[in-house]
Amino acid sequence: MCVVMGTVMVSETVSKIEDFLSEAVDLQKDHVERVCVECEAPCCTRVHYLFNEKDVLFLKLSERKRRWRREIVTRKGCWFLSEQGCTLDPKSRPFICHTYLCDDLKMEMKRCDPGLIALLEKKLKVIGEMRSQLWAEYLDEKLQP
Ligand code: SF4
Ligand code: SF4
Repeated sequence: MCVVMGTVMVSETVSKIEDFLSEAVDLQKDHVERVCVECEAPCCTRVHYLFNEKDVLFLKLSERKRRWRREIVTRKGCWFLSEQGCTLDPKSRPFICHTYLCDDLKMEMKRCDPGLIALLEKKLKVIGEMRSQLWAEYLDEKLQP
């Protein structure tokens, strides 16, 4: 009984995170498309492996493709980056890819909608809290006697 309840809680939290992530992506989308396409030093070319444990847990529980595995890749930059941009669907990206807003992107968002960054940060904070909640619920479920 408890395990079933735990599973229900976990899957509800996964689906809430997915909904909030969609909203966060939508809030940024137009601005990212406008600003990042012009960027001379894209952040994705300056990073490498970004998935952490909470990302992997969320991806596993939401039954996404196992693309988070560490591989030996020697080329510079994130290995999910192609000439067309990120090859991961937005909800499969490491959370930091949603939270990172460079100064240019922030400026553009402020210019278009002064309240947008605060709204986005609020949403990202909630997602961060739900990711911690998911972690706790998952452990509770696993540690049930
Ligand atoms: S977020 Fe900023 S640094 Fe990254 S690609 Fe867009 S404009 Fe460039
Ligand atoms: S996962 Fe995608 S968005 Fe994140 S750094 Fe890599 S290419 Fe960029």
